[in-house]
Amino acid sequence: MSGCYGLLRFFCFARQATAGLLAFENREYVLYKAERFRARRSDNKKLDSFKTGDMVSCELYDSEDKSVYGTAENIRLADGESYTGFFLRVNTFRAGRAENHPSVFEESEEIVFHSSELKDSAGVKIGGKTISAFEENIKRYAKHTGAVGEEYLKCFNNMSDSKTLLPVWYYTKNGNYYLSPSQMSRTVFICKPNDMLERMGYSSCKTKNEMCEACALFGMIGDDALSGRVRFSDAVCGKKDIFDKFYVLPVLGSPKLSSFEFYLKRKDGVYREDKGAIAPYDPDDPNVILAGRKFYWHNNGNKIGRDDEKAVEIALKKSDDNNAAKDNCIELVKKGTEFAFTVYFDGITEEQLKMLVFSLDFGENSEDSALCHKIGHGKPVGLGSAKIVADKVVVRDISDGKYSVQDVSERFLSPDGKELFKESLLAQVLKAVNMNTIPNGSMISYPRTETSPDAFSWFADNRETMRSTGMPRFFNRLPDITDKDQSLPMAANPKKKNGNSGSYNKGRR
Ligand SMILES: [Zn+2]
Repeated sequence: MSGCYGLLRFFCFARQATAGLLAFENREYVLYKAERFRARRSDNKKLDSFKTGDMVSCELYDSEDKSVYGTAENIRLADGESYTGFFLRVNTFRAGRAENHPSVFEESEEIVFHSSELKDSAGVKIGGKTISAFEENIKRYAKHTGAVGEEYLKCFNNMSDSKTLLPVWYYTKNGNYYLSPSQMSRTVFICKPNDMLERMGYSSCKTKNEMCEACALFGMIGDDALSGRVRFSDAVCGKKDIFDKFYVLPVLGSPKLSSFEFYLKRKDGVYREDKGAIAPYDPDDPNVILAGRKFYWHNNGNKIGRDDEKAVEIALKKSDDNNAAKDNCIELVKKGTEFAFTVYFDGITEEQLKMLVFSLDFGENSEDSALCHKIGHGKPVGLGSAKIVADKVVVRDISDGKYSVQDVSERFLSPDGKELFKESLLAQVLKAVNMNTIPNGSMISYPRTETSPDAFSWFADNRETMRSTGMPRFFNRLPDITDKDQSLPMAANPKKKNGNSGSYNKGRR
């Protein structure tokens, strides 16, 4: 499993949140309930001199403001008056719903959070994982809001050294607390894709006593590091004149965690319906897991090209300003070109040797086998299909000073996968690596709509964000590899009418 997933987070748009104040007490984060008051810029030239997290004194004043936003009374900031609170600067530019409620955003939204709870220590202790998700959320916020977000981030980072309380918005669900810097920012889920792997029992091996077959063969890193027992030589082609035409790679996609619903499923495999769509997934629900792992279908010779016909010509033209095109321009080798390489192994069991051979020839050690690997760059666009055939398996042995070489090909080539692996998993892998699983390779593409090859448009059509929770309902799920039909409709949203032909989704389990 790829390590980069650990850096990513599931997120969605936040639901209605309530006001709180986050404190750092005795090396722990504690959350207090708070009331928030809106400060009116027109009456308060002083607002500019405050920073997020500053303790301010203020007094209430009667407002004639008929604002629809919030029920709290407005306040005027003043020195040494009746209330003490903590200041929060808000970025007025990021008010996405301004067009619907223009009056709300005519004045600045600076807020003061006041808590009456602080004295009696009625706060809730907030755990490390929640804080880590919050921190991720603040960083996103800072990236999108500039100075206001940076100020917030700074205040958060300084909490351990100062007596500052940080104004936060929060809500709770299933006993989890979700914190965000703004009432309308995103929710970052506590569970990361890596945590989900742990939930599924797929976390990386840590000790030699409890390692998987792959680590036993290929080695692992960590405290109980183990070197691999297998070594691969370079693959060399003996012939000249193997190059085919130049080819310019189209833009390659990658999983978008903004469409996380597409990559998740429930443990029991049941998809719940909700108003003509599939009910949203909550990554923090212990019954929600990753939908599988990624494979690429074989396109059977149909590679996806650039839309513009002159792509190669442009890329090959000598000029300083077409580096991007040059980088994506590659020379392909002709179909049927052979490369030879050697796999060395040392100190492995007979069963491990069978598994190793199976991982190369998929149990069919012949050139006309349809069970092929995908190797190298451009896998999503139809490149890299290769059949690996072993010429022979040779075992060397030195015992009692005698050196012997034995050809054991007959016993080890084309091993029977059913003896080595769980049958249901084996069937899935063999389906994924078969050249003929998708008979028409030209049907393979990233999800696209009738009018746009941009996968983003398809994913946008496929979801319906619920205003109450910010969670996405969606219409089409990633097919299970055991499903007969692996296609996705171009018209992702059945409520919209645009097109009816299918396309095969690219990112396979
Ligand atoms: Zn392992």
